[in-house]
Amino acid sequence: MASEMRLLTSLLAALAVVSGCGGDDEGSTTAADAGSAQPQSAQSAKSLLEVGTTVAPITSIVANVGGDRVKITGIVPEGTNSHTFEPKPSVAELLSEVDVLYVNGLVLEEPTKELAEGSLKDGAEIVELGTRSIPESEYAYDSSFPKDGGKPNPHLWTDPTYARKYAEIVRDDLSERDPDNADYYAGNFERFSAMIDELDKAMRASFDTIPREKRKLLTYHDAYAYFGRTYGWDIVGAIQVSDFEDPTAKEVSGLIDQVKAEKVPAVFGSEVFPSPVLEQIGKEAGVRYVDVLRDDDLPGEPGSPEHSWAGLMHFDYVTMTEAMGGDSSALKAFTPRDVATDKADYPQ
Ligand SMILES: [Zn+2]
Repeated sequence: MASEMRLLTSLLAALAVVSGCGGDDEGSTTAADAGSAQPQSAQSAKSLLEVGTTVAPITSIVANVGGDRVKITGIVPEGTNSHTFEPKPSVAELLSEVDVLYVNGLVLEEPTKELAEGSLKDGAEIVELGTRSIPESEYAYDSSFPKDGGKPNPHLWTDPTYARKYAEIVRDDLSERDPDNADYYAGNFERFSAMIDELDKAMRASFDTIPREKRKLLTYHDAYAYFGRTYGWDIVGAIQVSDFEDPTAKEVSGLIDQVKAEKVPAVFGSEVFPSPVLEQIGKEAGVRYVDVLRDDDLPGEPGSPEHSWAGLMHFDYVTMTEAMGGDSSALKAFTPRDVATDKADYPQ
C-alpha cells in the first residue's frame, strides 16, 4: 500500500512537471531552498508536494511541519466567516493541483470539501485533522453548535494540546507521501512540540494569576470550548446562535442577567464578528467589553512571526488574562514564531 502510494506520488510529480502546473508564484517556491546547503535542481524543486489548507491557523500549523519542502496554499481568506465560507468555483483549479488537502473537519468546511471531492486529482486526498484528533464521545456541543444541528464545535486549534495532535498527523501524513523528507518533518515537529510545551507553561502560569472563580468566558463567537476544558476556564456562554445571527431580545436580557450573576469582569467579542449585541450586554451588565479576540484570523502581517498559529494563541491568551485582571508576564515572555520557514500563501 505504502509503496504503491509512493509510486503514485512520484508518477504524479512527474506528470506535474510535464504539465508545467504551478501558477505564477513559483519564484517564491523555489527560492525557499536558497538557504539550504545543496541547491535543488529545477526538477526536484518542481516535485515539491503541493498542499492545500483551509483556515489560517491550520495553514500555519502545516507550514511549521512542512516548512520549505512543501508548497502550501490556504483557501479560506483571513477575516471571513470560516463557518459559512463557500469557495468560488475557481478554487477548483487550485484543488485539482494539490496532493493533499488538510482541513479541520468536524463539519466546518463542507462546501470546500465538496468542491475538493469533485476536483482532486487521482491519488490526492482530504485529511481531516480535527476529526482525527478527537473521539466523537468528546465532541463539544453547546448553544452555538447544538447537537441536533449535527455540527460539533470545530475549534480544536485554540487549544494547544490539539494543535500538537494536528501537527503530529501532518508529520505522519507528509512523511508517508514524501518519505525522502521524513527526517526534516520529524525535526520540525519536535521543535513545534517543544514550542507548544513552552506556550502551555506560559499560559498556565498566567492563568494561575487569575482566581479560579474568575476564569469564566462569555464570548460572542464560541471558539474556546476545548481550550476551556483543558485550561480550567468555565464557558459561561456564547452569544452567537447556531445560524450566525444575533440573539433575540429575550436571549439578550437573559445573558445580561447571567453576566451579572456570574460576576465576570469582561466579555469578549472577536475581530471577525463585530457584535453590537455583546457591546450592549457589556454596558448593561456593567462589565468590560473586549472585542479583539481572534479564532482564525492571524495577527500581524503575513511573513511576520506574529502571523502564525503561535501568534494567534499568544494574542488571545494575553488579551484574556489582562481583561480578567491577571498578570500576563509569563505569556509575554513567550515569543511567538514559526519553527520552520513559513512560505505558505495566506489569502487575504
Ligand atoms: Zn470560528
